[in-house]
Amino acid sequence: MPSLSHTRYAVIGHPVAHSKSPWIHARFAEQTGQPITYEAICAPVDGFAAQVEGFFAAGGGGLNVTVPFKLEAFDLARGHLSPRAQAAGAVNTLWMADGRLHGCNTDGVGLLNDLRRLGARLAGARVLLAGAGGAARGILLPLVEAGCAGIDIANRTPQRAVELAASFSASAAGAVLRGSSYAELPANGHWDLVINATASSLEDEAPPLPAGAYAPGALAYDLMYAARPTAFMRQASADGAAAVADGLGMLVEQAAESFFIWRGVRPDPAPVLAALRDLLA
Ligand code: NAP
Repeated sequence: MPSLSHTRYAVIGHPVAHSKSPWIHARFAEQTGQPITYEAICAPVDGFAAQVEGFFAAGGGGLNVTVPFKLEAFDLARGHLSPRAQAAGAVNTLWMADGRLHGCNTDGVGLLNDLRRLGARLAGARVLLAGAGGAARGILLPLVEAGCAGIDIANRTPQRAVELAASFSASAAGAVLRGSSYAELPANGHWDLVINATASSLEDEAPPLPAGAYAPGALAYDLMYAARPTAFMRQASADGAAAVADGLGMLVEQAAESFFIWRGVRPDPAPVLAALRDLLA
């Protein structure tokens, strides 16, 4: 259990000025009455470990870790990783307990909580996951554990999708995992849930999905978020998705899970998400 007497928290990344985490955690602190501060730390690209050590040596309570340090954080906390971090192969939440650095990954549970908020039915669902990078890896096992029946993973570099599917197949229980290129995906796949875990929306592009990707009632979910619908969300609406969403809810939900790990108190994400959406508009 992390010590509650340490009240300084931060997000660490490079760059990090754009991060919404300080704003989100300030709202959680107000809401729950927890006496914490939360700042953004821009670490030198080659100086992550020293910054983390200095932060906790000075009495820091916990860190969120963002691009490009999630793998380094995993290495630093090796030996004291949660099952979620082990499955994801990356860490976005660090804290000290019993004099040791611990790591977790809250991205997957953040996505699942947001999908449930949106009313997505995951048990028995057929899922198309676009992308095979760090975010895709982090959400794969939580989707399997939520009871998805099959997950097709497609990626620009197909080999990464094939390897990702293979590396999780043993722990997939009843779910069928397949990795491929976009071109190898079947037409009229009629998936119940299509998740964009690529960075394509940064370039205002959508991944090249085949026609007929959406089953009746299907949800399209972009991990990226923006003030306006992303290219993927626009494409999904045009292709017949019944509902589209961006990843702002996931961002708030993963933050709520980190806050719970550090403080033992679960904030209510709903009002914070609504206020953040207004702020973004
Ligand atoms: P990453 O490890 O760098 O992986 C990037 C992925 O996007 C790879 O699969 C890459 O394919 C693919 N890609 C990049 N540009 C593309 C394009 N123009 N067309 C098609 N595919 C493209 O990044 P990540 O950490 O997984 O993050 C992916 C996205 O998730 C980012 O937009 C990030 O902001 C978002 N995210 C959101 C949250 C949240 O809380 N909402 C949390 C985590 C991540 P290749 O393998 O071929 O390079």
